[in-house]
Amino acid sequence: MAETDTLPAIATRREEATGFFQKLVSKGLGWARKNSLYQYPFVTACCGIEYMSLASARYDIARFGAEVPRFSPRQADLLLVVGTINCKQAPILQRIYEQMADPKWVIAYGVCASSGGFYDNYATVQGIDRLIPVDVYVPGCPPRPEQVLDGLMLLQKKIQDQEHKLIDRASPKLASGR
Ligand code: SF4
Repeated sequence: MAETDTLPAIATRREEATGFFQKLVSKGLGWARKNSLYQYPFVTACCGIEYMSLASARYDIARFGAEVPRFSPRQADLLLVVGTINCKQAPILQRIYEQMADPKWVIAYGVCASSGGFYDNYATVQGIDRLIPVDVYVPGCPPRPEQVLDGLMLLQKKIQDQEHKLIDRASPKLASGR
């Protein structure tokens, strides 16, 4: 048997080993990221009152590792859009989303953020998914804190199931030095 006949088998084993290692890394990063979410609360309306309740001791979002709000989107990986978004606010929300570093996730908090709610008029954005990608929609006007925590757990499951890489070399943002 020629020496070169063994090369494809070796290459396959190397891919398998790399794939196995990548899966372990992805699982570990997913676990770390889902349990250390740094939120940026974009609060515009009455849902903010329930947000305060969510953050306080009774419901204690700290149990899920997401208790620390950041006041710069550059330091956050979870955007909570809390309340009604009108058309004048739309470019501001998009700018905030763009400033967040990858990987990042978005929760639409309440029916106004999810679909415009009962503000079916010319001035209101009929759901923030017309502006930015949304990972979890939380219904309710306002949603109960338990609903938001349920949405947060859904997001945690989604994060755990995603593929995570230590360095994403294909990222156009990294390639362009941004
Ligand atoms: S969903 Fe209800 S409580 Fe929340 S911002 Fe809209 S109107 Fe206010």
